[in-house]
Amino acid sequence: MNVNQSAPPVPPFGQPQPVYPGYHQSNYGGQPGSTAPPTPYGAYNGPVPGFQQTPPQGVSRAPPSSGAPPASTAQAPCGQATYGQFGPGDIQNGPSSTVQMQRLPGSQPFGSPLAPVVSQSSVLQPYGPSLTSAEVTAQLAGMQISGAVAPAPPASGLGYGTPTSLASASGSFPNSGLYGSYPQGQAPPLSHAHGHPGVQPPQRSVPPQASSFIPPASGGPRMPSMTGPLLPGQGFGGLPVSQPNHVSSPPPQALPHGTQMTGPPGPPPPMHSPQQPGYQLQQNGSFGPARGPQPSYGSPYPGAPTFGSQPGPPQPLPPKRLDPDAIPSPQLNELPPQQKTRHRIDPDAIPSPIQVIEDDRNNRGSEPFVTGVRGQVPPLVTTNFLVKDQGNASPRYIRCTSYNIPCTSDMAKQAQVPLAAVIKPLARLPPEEASPYVVDHGESGPLRCNRCKAYMCPFMQFIEGGRRFQCCFCSCINDVPPQYFQHLDHTGKRVDAYDRPELSLGSYEFLATVDYCKNNKFPSSPAFIFMIDVSYNAIRTGLVRLLCEELKSLLDFLPREGRAEESAIRVGFVTYNKVLHFYNVKSSLAQPQMMVVSDVADMFVPLLDGFLVNVNESRAVITSLLDQIPEMFADTRETETVFAPVIQAGMEALKAAECAGKLFLFHTSLPIAEAPGKLKNRDDRKLINTDKEKTLFQPQTGAYQTLAKECVAQGCCVDLFLFPNQYVDVATLSVVPQLTGGSIYKYACFQVENDQERFLSDLRRDVQKIVGFDAVMRVRTSTGIRAVDFFGAFYMSNTTDVELAGLDGDKTVTVEFKHDDRLNEESGALLQCALLYTSCAGQRRLRIHNLALNCCTQLADLYRNCETDTLINYMAKFAYRGVLNSPVKTVRDTLITQCAQILACYRKNCASPSSAGQLILPECMKLLPVYLNCVLKSDVLQPGAEVTTDDRAYVRQLVTSMDVAETNIFFYPRLLPLTKSPIESTTEPPAVRASEERLSNGDIYLLENGLNLFLWVGASVQQGVVQSLFNVSSFSQISSGLSVLPVLDNPLSTKVRGLIDSLRAQRSRYMKLIVVKQEDKLEMLFKHFLVEDKSLSGGASYVDFLCHMHKEIRQLLS
Ligand SMILES: [Zn+2]
Repeated sequence: MNVNQSAPPVPPFGQPQPVYPGYHQSNYGGQPGSTAPPTPYGAYNGPVPGFQQTPPQGVSRAPPSSGAPPASTAQAPCGQATYGQFGPGDIQNGPSSTVQMQRLPGSQPFGSPLAPVVSQSSVLQPYGPSLTSAEVTAQLAGMQISGAVAPAPPASGLGYGTPTSLASASGSFPNSGLYGSYPQGQAPPLSHAHGHPGVQPPQRSVPPQASSFIPPASGGPRMPSMTGPLLPGQGFGGLPVSQPNHVSSPPPQALPHGTQMTGPPGPPPPMHSPQQPGYQLQQNGSFGPARGPQPSYGSPYPGAPTFGSQPGPPQPLPPKRLDPDAIPSPQLNELPPQQKTRHRIDPDAIPSPIQVIEDDRNNRGSEPFVTGVRGQVPPLVTTNFLVKDQGNASPRYIRCTSYNIPCTSDMAKQAQVPLAAVIKPLARLPPEEASPYVVDHGESGPLRCNRCKAYMCPFMQFIEGGRRFQCCFCSCINDVPPQYFQHLDHTGKRVDAYDRPELSLGSYEFLATVDYCKNNKFPSSPAFIFMIDVSYNAIRTGLVRLLCEELKSLLDFLPREGRAEESAIRVGFVTYNKVLHFYNVKSSLAQPQMMVVSDVADMFVPLLDGFLVNVNESRAVITSLLDQIPEMFADTRETETVFAPVIQAGMEALKAAECAGKLFLFHTSLPIAEAPGKLKNRDDRKLINTDKEKTLFQPQTGAYQTLAKECVAQGCCVDLFLFPNQYVDVATLSVVPQLTGGSIYKYACFQVENDQERFLSDLRRDVQKIVGFDAVMRVRTSTGIRAVDFFGAFYMSNTTDVELAGLDGDKTVTVEFKHDDRLNEESGALLQCALLYTSCAGQRRLRIHNLALNCCTQLADLYRNCETDTLINYMAKFAYRGVLNSPVKTVRDTLITQCAQILACYRKNCASPSSAGQLILPECMKLLPVYLNCVLKSDVLQPGAEVTTDDRAYVRQLVTSMDVAETNIFFYPRLLPLTKSPIESTTEPPAVRASEERLSNGDIYLLENGLNLFLWVGASVQQGVVQSLFNVSSFSQISSGLSVLPVLDNPLSTKVRGLIDSLRAQRSRYMKLIVVKQEDKLEMLFKHFLVEDKSLSGGASYVDFLCHMHKEIRQLLS
């Protein structure tokens, strides 16, 4: 098992295999043995074709044969929902169900029928500075929303969503069994958790046509009473304006980035180029005159790119992508008049996430994304696409907020668009895409620039006939070592460029030499230590028994590398309450031996030999131990636990074994026992919305920070599974996992019967994850910009090196860049991310990702090449870190102001001249307001009454490491109607917007955000549907809070359960299902995720927030 040797345990490096089986897939479903044998380097010839190798022919896995845990339908008293925290029993403060069903007045401020108006921007100008957001909304509406709304909408009207064909999950490739399969054809214990072991999620490569959407025939939830007809421009005196978030204008002086709007006017407003069709060339999505085709509207449809202009007459088939915002849903015209919206701002006329996602899928989902061109904006994370590496890193590894960077810092400050990259160095790839090749330069190691130490990459310039190269990052001229010399062709390119991954690809790996190893010694193989809380709570809930039983089989599936027969990872076991118990599981023993350490103040490891063992060698002893642990502590009365000493012990054990590794901690309670790291309950909800609120997010002692530092030095990553019944101070307990690159899982009020499926699923995935250990990441940039800030789960002891005790394929590091010099349009800007890590077999490697970006002197180019999903990822992380140091309100205001500045700068410098009353958004950023509003009203920044302090700390921690796809779905959940599309359809149903308005009480919906999964059942759902799904005869008999659907043999049941499995397979954490009935008390939880609506905690509706944003922009421009 010891890999302290120069010969790697994997096939010859330096001869990159067409399908390098080493890193990713092999442990998850890929069939390592079935791939082609290693071919010599020559086979790799050409930028793309050479790499388009057949993926490993995965052998279908047998369905699991191990015993599936019984599906339980019992209700949990808590731990049901969102973060495993709220449950039916917890809902005591919410409004009654009747109240819940009312739409909150604030979210539909514009009572019913408006007379047709041709809006003119002059009508209501100028705005006073002191307007409330509702008033602004009214004025905005009065000015521009020229919609002719049919008179007298009855109270039953529902605004239906635009037809959509949301075909696939957020950017994940169709489930490839990545997580569900075990290697070597063994029965996977993982997938039985889903109840549908054999079911493969449907391929979603063919999105359903928009036309397949059938609008429901009748109205949905009851409507609130209207305030009566209002004339344009009329006041809205009766409107509540209780929007603490947005009523007050943010103090501009609170901005960390400074308000630059008064600065130099910048370049002359580059006019939008109407001749540029297609996705990223569009820049201008104004939606001032929201209502588009209205039967009574007379003026001509302005045609294609006249953004911000008057809407036109009905266009049954309006040209796609001209001005999506000016073109309302075609269906609107097909609806009877009374079903048209009664808002003055038509929700269908403001930018729709669903529409943007669908358009991108349609436009960019069919072609592979080829990375050969500098500064290309990739498809959205919600689009399913393949990547061909032609010299730049795949967007699966790096996504940027903008692919065109302003040349000067003045421009950047003016635009206020954060320049950031979200990097996922060890991202898993779909089976169709090859893992990075491993390059072995032998003893000389990877070739680097002498000055800046950048690694050889496709952008290095070879000169002087190939004898030297100029560094693309720092311009230093370096000699080419003789063994690396190669002639250049007539274009100055090395003739072997396409034979060398490091000269032709965006991503590749180097085998590291001993110089890259700690103490100049090749590392040992890593170890996993399982550390199990055996206090009363852990025993009582059945957790310990469940866990021990699971580990017996799970230990066979530790991550392994390449074609290794078995995992190189060694394992060890510790149990603890107030004291620690170490176990000797040496293979030569007949029975495991326990050693108790009660001096927790001065932790030491009582045994070395026999503590970390090979699973196969010690199997009998380990099995015996796992059988005995639940019995040994069955009668425990010990309720107190320690925490820091446990981590200390694990870290010391790894240190003694001279290896890196991972601790898996299973912990239940606030560690109040006398020991280092002892905590007290300091939860205080009264601090919310005070200046001291930040203390809730700060650790209560510095001890854990110190401990984490030691862990990082040892390469000791900590994964924490929490099972709290009450406050456990997640903010403090999460410090070590956070700083060591670990993960946290929380199962509040854990009960085996309710939560075992979720826990076991998460555990299996977590244990099997490929991890890089003892890692250091460095991001180098070409002259002119540099990395200045970092977000994620890691530790930094200096300003440049991101230290990660462990890094898995789910974790991202978000890096912000700032100018330190002027950039050049011609040469662009370059990023190189280098990750040095120890593989799970103990091999030291460097993974390199390169990305070239464009640079611009025109702001319009910046706005044309932005990616809003990535911006939101950055802004959320920025804000979530901000709550540690600033009042939450300040953080929210900062976000709002920055967003307004970004949009105002666009308006001022890039948009076509138009009336001030129009809100004009850049095409690439038209979803910025709706998504930002979701961040602002998230539980961390604006908690509802039911959200606990631990929940907030937990979510804060999770978001910190999320990739772009995860933040996208987390902040704007996916809402899928289940009975609208034909039952035989195999694609995912088209999503609808996350608003109560989109719910029909005759339908059933799934809602997911990556952590939670709800099935909402309308009160008027057909009895046949109820029978088919729930096996009961009426709506009233469906038990609320149900978490498992009965397995019934009918098409609808099969389809819905299959869809649930498919959604779960796309996410990195198991989403527990909660069935919510319309008007049931649980519905409040569900409505929390209808993010376009006003939230109970005071978060603004999308419409209101957009109006507020408009006001902010106007103030900046005036
Ligand atoms: Zn250099």
